[in-house]
Amino acid sequence: MARTKVFTLLLLGALVVVASCGQVDMTNSVRWTIVKPEVVHRINSDNEVGVPTADIGIYYPSNLDHAFTDQFSLNDLIDDFVQAKSIFADAGVQLNLLWIKTGEIDPSFFEIQANNIAATAPGGQYANMYVDSRRRQSGLTQEALDAFESIVEKHDNNNRTVFLVVLQDVFMSFYEKQDERTWEVRTITTGGLSFPSYSYQQIPRRLRGVITINKSDPLRSIVAHELGHKLINVSHEYNDIDPQHEVRAEGGLMLYGSGTDIPASKRGRWHRERLHLSPYIYRQTASGARSWNTDYKEGGHYYDPIYGDKVIQFGDIEADTEK
Ligand SMILES: [Zn+2]
Repeated sequence: MARTKVFTLLLLGALVVVASCGQVDMTNSVRWTIVKPEVVHRINSDNEVGVPTADIGIYYPSNLDHAFTDQFSLNDLIDDFVQAKSIFADAGVQLNLLWIKTGEIDPSFFEIQANNIAATAPGGQYANMYVDSRRRQSGLTQEALDAFESIVEKHDNNNRTVFLVVLQDVFMSFYEKQDERTWEVRTITTGGLSFPSYSYQQIPRRLRGVITINKSDPLRSIVAHELGHKLINVSHEYNDIDPQHEVRAEGGLMLYGSGTDIPASKRGRWHRERLHLSPYIYRQTASGARSWNTDYKEGGHYYDPIYGDKVIQFGDIEADTEK
């Protein structure tokens, strides 16, 4: 009995110490541990002051199923990050890896349905995808929200940091037009899902940098492609290919293929210019002073004012303009 009391007092003492730090939420936050700091240091070693930079953190849970980790290890993810760093370096942006962390997450988060389209219509037929995405914004499901609340730690630059979160299965649903009057809901498991602002403007600011990664496929540069959605803030499009849910073709980073090009100018749909305007990007001086890009003014839809004329008018918008 006395032993139990002593133990209880010790436990309470521990809780008070934790609570007094004011940073640890004991309810359901994951206890993360930093791993491979030497790898992080090596990856960042060629970063330079003054170059446009995006901060990225990696969360790789420690209790994933072996059948999953056998085909997608932490080392695979690190390789994919290094590949992404090289692709973005070619476009003048350096990726800065803040840390790699592991820890046990609630196994109910291993598989989640990302978006909730049950209560939404397929989308209008008279506006282009980006205009329609603003009118009918995608929302996270409660389970996705709970997972990200639990996984992403609170810190000052939460809303300016990109988080690569490894989960086993992240399902998303979308409407696909079958004929003139019929749409069907399709649900797919994703290789990565970036929750881009052009579609998810209502995501809590603290969590808006989340990207889930569920697969390693170096030929498809999944990490770089998902970072492209987040940082360029466009869907699957390239040069004269208008955005669609799925485009299998070669050439651009933002198509499903082995291309890694982040093209510039209007012909390139302003991808490179949009990348350099991303609110996730900053420049740092030798003394450590940071200047961040302007934040989204209207939640980050495709035509958000921060992009100025670095947008493409296409589809039915052009038709409307001509009338
Ligand atoms: Zn994509």
